[in-house]
Amino acid sequence: MPNDATLRERVRDFVDQVLLPIEHRYLNQPWGDVLPALEEARHEAKRRGLWAPHLPPALGGRGVSLAEFAGVSLELGRTPIGHFALNCQAPDIGNMELLHAHGTADQKERWLEPLARGDIRSCFAMTERERAGSNPVWLDARATRDGDHYVIDAHKWFTSAADGAAFAIVMAITDPDAAPHQRASQIIVPTGTPGYTLVRNIKVMGDAGEGYPTHAEVRLDGCRVPVSNRIGREGEGFALAQERLGPGRIHHCMRWMGICERALDLTCRHAASRELSPGVPLASRQSVQHMIADSRAEMDAARLLILDCAAQIDRVGAAAARESVSAIKFFAAGVLQRVLDRAVQVHGALGMTDDTPLAYWYRHERAARIYDGADEVHKTVVARRILKRYGVTARD
Ligand SMILES: Cc1cc2nc3c(=O)[nH]c(=O)nc-3n(C[C@H](O)[C@H](O)[C@H](O)COP(=O)(O)OP(=O)(O)OC[C@H]3O[C@@H](n4cnc5c(N)ncnc54)[C@H](O)[C@@H]3O)c2cc1C
Repeated sequence: MPNDATLRERVRDFVDQVLLPIEHRYLNQPWGDVLPALEEARHEAKRRGLWAPHLPPALGGRGVSLAEFAGVSLELGRTPIGHFALNCQAPDIGNMELLHAHGTADQKERWLEPLARGDIRSCFAMTERERAGSNPVWLDARATRDGDHYVIDAHKWFTSAADGAAFAIVMAITDPDAAPHQRASQIIVPTGTPGYTLVRNIKVMGDAGEGYPTHAEVRLDGCRVPVSNRIGREGEGFALAQERLGPGRIHHCMRWMGICERALDLTCRHAASRELSPGVPLASRQSVQHMIADSRAEMDAARLLILDCAAQIDRVGAAAARESVSAIKFFAAGVLQRVLDRAVQVHGALGMTDDTPLAYWYRHERAARIYDGADEVHKTVVARRILKRYGVTARD
């Protein structure tokens, strides 16, 4: 087994030496212009033995536990290009984990292996414009059986990283008469399939982007794919989506803690060097000191909560750790938002520019309180489980 402390330190060095020097280009240039430098960084990650830490060695990874990966994710989160450089970026990481656990031998060979090598990218299309994503069993997308094929009709949106993806894992209803949690299946749809259209990259806080860091509106009109493209059994789509979300929340939450660490570091550096008048740094002001203290305390609390949750998932599985998984999701997202807001405030006008990564994160990570389950949904899960112990049975 790899030594966690050593791996984490090596990842930190890699971020400092290889990624931070190209970060400014990522923040200020089109994706296509920066991609060659990012591909070079990916080669360097492979050369240093850091590639795909979440995958088993047989797939070119390091086979680390979820708790170990959490530390790596924090280091990578310090820059917006960290996870991409090690091929453990969402949504590919979730798709890799899903295919590894539930894919057939053919699916693994055709889709998982090239994903693991970093030769292709993928996306996950579940949310629909017309239906509340917070009720994941209420979908319009249909996959109708026609012999050995499914014919899929769907209108999806916020399909992250669809631009340039080789395939989408599409959540669609395969049996509308089944019990709500057994109606849908997850089906691999190559993006070249006739009827599959990427309508647009949606502007998020004014920024549509291109390539990997995007969120697309996608249409599937009569897309025919073989039944063998289904992942798991028919009707298992919701259960598989739930399974993916446990580890997925650790990935996101620790990435957010990495963002917080960088934001606080930038805040302290700026407060120490920006002078309000000769010899009087911003850091001398109590209001700034309090912001720094609040951020530090909140980040430490969140990090320990997340690490405890990761250890629980490693020990008893995501389903048994459900209360903890929901608690970290809304708690860490709130910390992230507050820490970023304070960082922008302390930086003044500089905080609004793309000369630091703060504005980029401020734009893109507001969504942290919405995606993978909105705050309110997770708070309800936690509270209902607590109240059940007091004899209160929840009703919608
Ligand atoms: C940046 C980003 C990336 C995403 N990536 C993907 C992706 O790759 N693939 C994918 O399929 N989806 C993706 N999504 C979609 C995401 O999963 C949904 O946005 C999320 O599930 C919420 O669904 P919704 O947007 O339809 O909000 P709704 O369900 O319409 O909810 C709207 C708001 O209502 C409130 N609310 C909802 N339910 C309750 C409740 N029970 N009690 C009280 N208040 C409630 C919350 O404040 C919520 O924000 C992404 C979203 C974003 C913003």
